[in-house]
Amino acid sequence: MKTVLITGGSRGIGKAIAIELGKSFNVAVGYSSSKEDGEEVVEEIMKSNGTATAVEINVTSTESVENAFVAIEKEYGGIDVLVNNAGIAKDNILPRLKEDEWDEVINTNLTGSFRTSQRAIKHMMKSKWGRIIYISSIVGLAGNQGQTNYAASKAGLVGLSKSIAKEMGSRNITSNVIAPGYIDTDMTSFLTDEQKDDILDKLSIKRIGKPEDIANIVSFLASDESEYITGQVISVDGGIT
Ligand code: NDP
Repeated sequence: MKTVLITGGSRGIGKAIAIELGKSFNVAVGYSSSKEDGEEVVEEIMKSNGTATAVEINVTSTESVENAFVAIEKEYGGIDVLVNNAGIAKDNILPRLKEDEWDEVINTNLTGSFRTSQRAIKHMMKSKWGRIIYISSIVGLAGNQGQTNYAASKAGLVGLSKSIAKEMGSRNITSNVIAPGYIDTDMTSFLTDEQKDDILDKLSIKRIGKPEDIANIVSFLASDESEYITGQVISVDGGIT
C-alpha cells in the first residue's frame, strides 16, 4: 500500500484529507502543536480498518521535517504522496503589516512546502512515481485585502508546483495545486455573520465549503487515475471566482 504524508493533518481541511485518504493509503498525520488532535485522527482512521500514525512535523524547521521523514520511512518505507496543507494567516493591511508577520507566513506556507517537497522528491525519484499536492487558496490567485503576505505565499505555491511538474513529469511525479474558497474551519471561524452573508451572496453554490469538499479532489489527485494531470491549479470554491 502506498503512503501519504499530510502536513497539518490534525485539524480542519488536513484532518478531512487524512480520513478520506485513510481508505486507500497508509497515512502519516502531521501535526506541529495539536498532538492530541493528530492522535484522534489516527484513531478514527484505524477504527475504519485503515493504517495511520501521528507524526510531529513543524514545516518551519528543516530538522523537524527531516526527523518526520526518517520516522515515516522507517515505518512505511517512503512517502509516495505528499499533501502540503499546513498553513497560517497573519492578516494586516499593508501599511500596518510587520516584517515578522510577512516572514512567518512566507516561512510556513511557502518555504515550508519547499522543505517538504525537496525532501519527499528523493524517494519519489527513486520509485519513479509520486504525487505532490499543494493546498493554496483562491486568495493566492485573486489577492485579498489585508492578506498581502498570505496571498503572496499562496501564489508562490503555484510557481513552485508548476516548476516541479516540469522537472519531474518524466519520472511519473505529478504536482498540482488546489485553491479552496471559503471552507468552514478554525481558520475562518473569525468571520462575522455579516461577512458570511456577503460571501454567500457571491457564491454560485449557496453554502460555505466543507473540509470534505477539498478532501474529495485530493483523493482523486493522489490516485493512479489522475496520472495525466500535472501543473494544474484547481479551484474548489463553490463558484465564487
Ligand atoms: P486550520 O487553522 O484549521 O489548520 C491549520 C493546520 O496547519 C493545523 O493542522 C496546524 O497544525 C497546521 N500548521 C500550522 N502551522 C504549522 C507548522 N509550522 N508546521 C506544520 N503544521 C502547521 O486551517 P485550515 O484547515 O482551514 O487550512 C488548511 C490549509 O488550507 C491551509 O494551508 C490554509 O491556508 C488553506 N486554506 C484554507 C481555507 C479556509 O477557508 N479554511 C481557504 C483556502 C485555503 P497544528 O495545530 O498541529 O499546529
